[in-house]
Amino acid sequence: MLKEIKILAGHGKQFVPDLRNQPVSARFRGRPVIASAITAEDIERAAAICPVSAIDRRNGAIDLGRCTFCNECALALPEAYRFTNDYRIAATRRGDLVIRPGQTDPLRIDETAVRPEVRKLFKRSLKLRQVSAGGDNSCEMELAASGNVNFDVGRYGIEFVASPRHADGIVITGPVTENMAEALQICYDAIPTPKVIIVAGTDAISGGIFDGSPALNRRFIETHTVDLYVPGNPAHPLTFINGVMDMLGL
Ligand code: SF4
Repeated sequence: MLKEIKILAGHGKQFVPDLRNQPVSARFRGRPVIASAITAEDIERAAAICPVSAIDRRNGAIDLGRCTFCNECALALPEAYRFTNDYRIAATRRGDLVIRPGQTDPLRIDETAVRPEVRKLFKRSLKLRQVSAGGDNSCEMELAASGNVNFDVGRYGIEFVASPRHADGIVITGPVTENMAEALQICYDAIPTPKVIIVAGTDAISGGIFDGSPALNRRFIETHTVDLYVPGNPAHPLTFINGVMDMLGL
């Protein structure tokens, strides 16, 4: 018995005690910072490198909804682009995912964009149905990790469920392929109203590297109001969890 107690004590805490302030590796790529004095030449060089046209050629801004966090711009132009390890980068408005030169403030959700019924009804319990709409299983694994013993988002009543009938909202991953478009709509329709839409990962937010492919059908994303955008490639559990907590006002 003493031996088992010693082993348990040696393991320490198996869960993240403070999901709001969990330190992560300095190598983690989260919120970018772009030099305010970036030159037109540097912008052009970075935009030419970027594989997904995430860099705006007019001003050098990075769209986190398109960025794959490949780090190529920062490697080529370290004086102009760098990534902090700030994982709190979810947003309630699509436009807020655009990080402009000189912008150093932490990214926080626009509270006015949160529908009142979302906080009123789901603050204590939010059950989500996840739909992988042509995803590659990376975001899906990270979302599943949100509920594991480390992150344990279930402590806030936030959980994934097996049926849309039991869900309060939907989390979409993947670029939304033509083959998944109807299934996504059917799943959404099966969720009782009012319901939440969360879009997780670069592929889901913008199509990512598949943007413009004839194999995609992104009509659902384009015609519905999204409650929360969770950038990342894949989205990190802490980005997802903090984004949902912000949305719920926790
Ligand atoms: S890190 Fe993002 S913005 Fe930079 S090159 Fe890669 S995809 Fe483009």
